[in-house]
Amino acid sequence: MSNSPIHCSFCGRSKEDVDVLIAGVTGHICDHCIEQADGILKEERKPNSGAASLQLKLPKTIKKHLDEYIIGQEQAKKTISVAVYNHYKRLLNPSAAGEIEIDKSNVMLLGETGTGKTLIARTIARMLDVPFCIADATVLTEAGYVGEDVESVLTRLLHVADYNVEQAERGIVFVDEIDKIARKSDNPSITRDVSGEGVQQALLKLLEGAEVNVPPQGGRKHPEQKLITINTKNILFICGGAFAGIEKIIERRINRSPIGYQQASDQIDAASFLQYAAPADLRVFGLIPELIGRFPVLTYLNPLDAGALRQILTEPKNALCKQYVELFKIDGIELKFDASGLDYMVEKAVEFKLGARGLRSIMEAVLNDAMFELPGGETNKLKVTRAFAERHFDDDQQTGLRVA
Ligand code: ADP
Repeated sequence: MSNSPIHCSFCGRSKEDVDVLIAGVTGHICDHCIEQADGILKEERKPNSGAASLQLKLPKTIKKHLDEYIIGQEQAKKTISVAVYNHYKRLLNPSAAGEIEIDKSNVMLLGETGTGKTLIARTIARMLDVPFCIADATVLTEAGYVGEDVESVLTRLLHVADYNVEQAERGIVFVDEIDKIARKSDNPSITRDVSGEGVQQALLKLLEGAEVNVPPQGGRKHPEQKLITINTKNILFICGGAFAGIEKIIERRINRSPIGYQQASDQIDAASFLQYAAPADLRVFGLIPELIGRFPVLTYLNPLDAGALRQILTEPKNALCKQYVELFKIDGIELKFDASGLDYMVEKAVEFKLGARGLRSIMEAVLNDAMFELPGGETNKLKVTRAFAERHFDDDQQTGLRVA
């Protein structure tokens, strides 16, 4: 303790020993103690039990929420609502089942690119307010090869959870392009298939509900780096993939089945075979049985037709049209879309085979000039008609700003 008349009332350091000493009514506090107190506050305010703040929502409520953001895809929305409900029910009632351990309901989503797979997963995570991250299966490799270790997926989840391990442990991971790590041929080969099966084996480690040591800053594991242990038991994994060509596998299986199905298959139109997808088809496609077994929930998304694309432009809560109306409103400009203008953009998306993903770049191309010219000018109204859209989209294409 110091003899100085002024000292920190908490630690006793004298004025000379500290950088800052703040006076209160009857005492003083130094910078060291403020920092320490700040740390204590942060620690205290962390949700101490991750699960406690999680609210269980009924499947119907989850589905209703999804309906606000995702057009169509009824079957997928329904199936995933039940899966998510069961998952968090199990997580919030660890002892309810007594002796019976309820298995996790990881989800596998089949559907063309741009049909809403990621959007569904993201929307659910946002609704539940749990950490969410996207991993691309194609960049993952098994340890020791060029690429990212599978643990990097958890590094990302930990990062979005602000390094709160408990939060991360009840998050959602979306693994995109899972079909791209399928074994290339139907025959399990004797030589190891690095690009496919090895990664599937590595992924299994995360899915098995084990404790995984994760490098907090990502990158390769090396001896000096301190690792954080994450238990993946309660992390919900949602996988998505286009599984191009799987319809043929499904069709073949259905046709091979005993009488009864045979007739049914005659009536099934080729594009809708996806709805009959079964684990056996994933196996023929090249996923290993152990991995398939970890995804008890299997559902599909439909390709988006012009009608769905048209709805996507205007209906979801954060529909593209609504977003641009807001953008213009900030500049005091009233933006309106004519039905014919919307039809034109949909036609282009269909023509370029871009699906919903393309709508945004088309919209951007159509409105680019206006977003350049109008702010700060006299015009305070803009209507996007077919003629307007056509003119600006064509101009844009010619100036080299291609729709990507
Ligand atoms: P996927 O994961 O199936 O490849 P995404 O979910 O990433 O596709 O979709 C890309 C974008 O297209 C989304 O951000 C969203 O704006 C739009 N989109 C796709 N499908 C739908 C849908 N069914 N309803 C509303 N928007 C959609």
